[in-house]
Amino acid sequence: MADFTKQYEVKEIYENTYSILEKGFEGLDTYMYLLVGDEKALLVDCGFGIIDLKKIVGKITDKPLITVCTHGHHDHVMGVTNLTDCYIHSVDNEVFALNTCEPVLRMFVMNNALTEHKNCEEFEAFAEEWVSKAYPLPEALDDIPYFDLGNRKIYWHLIPGHTRGSIALYDEKYKAAFDSDGASRGVWIYLVESTSLTEYIETLESYIAFLEEKGVTKRFVAHDPKEHNIEDLRKLLSCCRYALENPGAGEIFRNPYNKARILRHSDTVVIYKEEKN
Ligand SMILES: [Zn+2]
Ligand SMILES: [Zn+2]
Repeated sequence: MADFTKQYEVKEIYENTYSILEKGFEGLDTYMYLLVGDEKALLVDCGFGIIDLKKIVGKITDKPLITVCTHGHHDHVMGVTNLTDCYIHSVDNEVFALNTCEPVLRMFVMNNALTEHKNCEEFEAFAEEWVSKAYPLPEALDDIPYFDLGNRKIYWHLIPGHTRGSIALYDEKYKAAFDSDGASRGVWIYLVESTSLTEYIETLESYIAFLEEKGVTKRFVAHDPKEHNIEDLRKLLSCCRYALENPGAGEIFRNPYNKARILRHSDTVVIYKEEKN
């Protein structure tokens, strides 16, 4: 019998820090990160809510757990049902509400869900429970400048682009950043909830300056197991600038809800909305 709650992998990525991979829907694997301090632990994102994060985290640490969602998309927030002390930037409250409401989830399951399990009975029962659960809105992160885990402070930085309330987390002690979908090697900024390309370029400029000032040495994202660095962000910025300076750059990208452009440049990919001049 298929057990969807066992579809995960845990790995130590550096001292007191773990990646938790949830093998999600339609091949969309999502990496979450667990940062353990002397007194508390912090989970970056909580995935699709398929795996039992409470139990998985409990095997690593018994310290009180704080969960910070980097943005409101369902692959990052749906574990909240099983967790307490969760946070999100309030700018993404609406994105969270839309991504966790039953009609949208039902559509998502019908269109995308775990294709290899689509016709299996256990999956149907699992999906039915998943779409009809209540997903409580996390608390607002807005007025909390950092989380002190005990000899380890975790700061956050607003990085509007992928969604307007996207944030990155910065681990001061180990000079590491977690920027999730907000600044990966393939960024989606074509969504209704995304900013314009111009605004995203401003985000990247200020985020790069922030990380340079902090002397960050490593970055981790949500859908790619590799360790990244600041140079990758500079390449992404150069790709976005190229798109802005060359209207119509890249191929047309269409899905049922959007028309956008997909541009591959400087070893990165950006899907963006064309700007009207
Ligand atoms: Zn996202
Ligand atoms: Zn994502």
